[in-house]
Amino acid sequence: NVRVRFAPSPTGPLHIGGVRTALFNYLFAKKHYGTFVLRIEDTDQNRYVKGAEQYIIDALKWCNIPYDEGPLKERVFSPYRQSERKEIYRQYADQLIATNNAYYAFDTAAELDHHRKDHEAKGKTFIYNWHNRLKLKNSLALSSQEVQKRLDASEDYVIRFKTPQDETLTMFDEIRGEISIDTNTLDDKVLFKSDGMPTYHLANIVDDHLMEISHVIRGEEWLPSMPLHMLLYRAFDWKAPKFAHLPLILKPVGKGKLSKRDGDKMGFPVFPLAWKDPATDELSAGYRENGYQPEAVVNMLAFLGWNPGTAQEIFSIEELVQAFDLERINKSGAKFDPEKTKWFQQHYFQERDNESIATEFKELLKDYDVHAADERVLKAVEMLKERAVFTKDLWDLGHFLFVAPVVFDEKAAKKAWKDGTATLMGELAQKIETIETFNVENLTNQVKEWIGQKEVGFGKVMMPFRLALVGSLQGPDVFEITAFVGKRETIERIRFAID
Ligand code: GLU
Repeated sequence: NVRVRFAPSPTGPLHIGGVRTALFNYLFAKKHYGTFVLRIEDTDQNRYVKGAEQYIIDALKWCNIPYDEGPLKERVFSPYRQSERKEIYRQYADQLIATNNAYYAFDTAAELDHHRKDHEAKGKTFIYNWHNRLKLKNSLALSSQEVQKRLDASEDYVIRFKTPQDETLTMFDEIRGEISIDTNTLDDKVLFKSDGMPTYHLANIVDDHLMEISHVIRGEEWLPSMPLHMLLYRAFDWKAPKFAHLPLILKPVGKGKLSKRDGDKMGFPVFPLAWKDPATDELSAGYRENGYQPEAVVNMLAFLGWNPGTAQEIFSIEELVQAFDLERINKSGAKFDPEKTKWFQQHYFQERDNESIATEFKELLKDYDVHAADERVLKAVEMLKERAVFTKDLWDLGHFLFVAPVVFDEKAAKKAWKDGTATLMGELAQKIETIETFNVENLTNQVKEWIGQKEVGFGKVMMPFRLALVGSLQGPDVFEITAFVGKRETIERIRFAID
């Protein structure tokens, strides 16, 4: 019975790395007819950011990555927000103390600071571990009576894990294979604090156990926590889930991990949705607001560290479910490629139905003070879509369909407008005046025939004609444009160009 979870901490907006983790969990769950749980890990009150949880839920929704259990989808393992599970964790911390797997430590911040400085002075780093803990006066050296006395006096404490000494711990990661570590290199991590809150490590393990999680699929940055987590499962005498650590997402250029800051710096979104930092009011760009479709973002994310082993690149989410496999996930980091995201977007934009694009485009046209009828907007979409990646591109590609050009591209004018062009265009305007059936086919035939009779080069007419209609030498078929803007407007544009 496969049960996986995505367990974000609401410390800010979910960046694409988080969405990828959620996606891989979702794909794995669906592939195995399992359950995908969303659990909010909000035990660290200091790092809690207002709105972040809602952002996570909205982002998953926009990406079409629905969870089966979680906040607002309360099921048997409810609640799914750790702050609401507060009472659960204490007993487990106590259990570890009772079994001699954890201990109280009363070191004050000042004392710990002193140890740190003391070590630094000797060119060493202070680590709260097997070696140092024996020398400290406020933890393992205390008798149980002394501990009780201090607790009764309401002294601040933490509960630390008593890492086993002199052991080679061997673990298995589904992606990385066997990993061994010397337990003497680990520190005694804090599991519980006197504010009544567990730390991430304790809450995470307790909840994964209680929620019957079968596979932990998460980012590589959590790999260093795996030994502690394995040791905790052992200390509790619980069966550990399987672990799979996903490769890092790397910067598109340069070295290192893609960071939340990189997007604004490098000019592409690293967030699914735009995010306004409640503390600074700073706005970060989102894929949704930049016009991307969720299918494109999801398809791009699927390929960050995974590949299907075939040449196929376009995958619907259902196809991803079918093709997905932990065995095809790479160990090495995946370079993030913003251009590839555009490539996916281009594909999915072409698949969109024209009506929905037209609805969006019609709204956008209003920003340019263009109020066009539905059928005209739809027709414009049909003409322009092929070269667009986003709805907003349609304006750049076809503003001339709605607004006559007033300035002409200088280079284009030089190329298209020669001696004699004005006379020729005057004649063309006259010819167009005579054409009754104003559709693409008839226009094409009639004008081409007329050019033939005049015995001038095709380009000598068509280039300035296009220039007059468009203002540059770009755009769709000239006769399509002519038919779209209509007879009056075509003639006016030619006349304007002649002047
Ligand atoms: N709360 C952790 C995070 O923010 C969860 C890590 C895990 O999946 O174990 O990513």
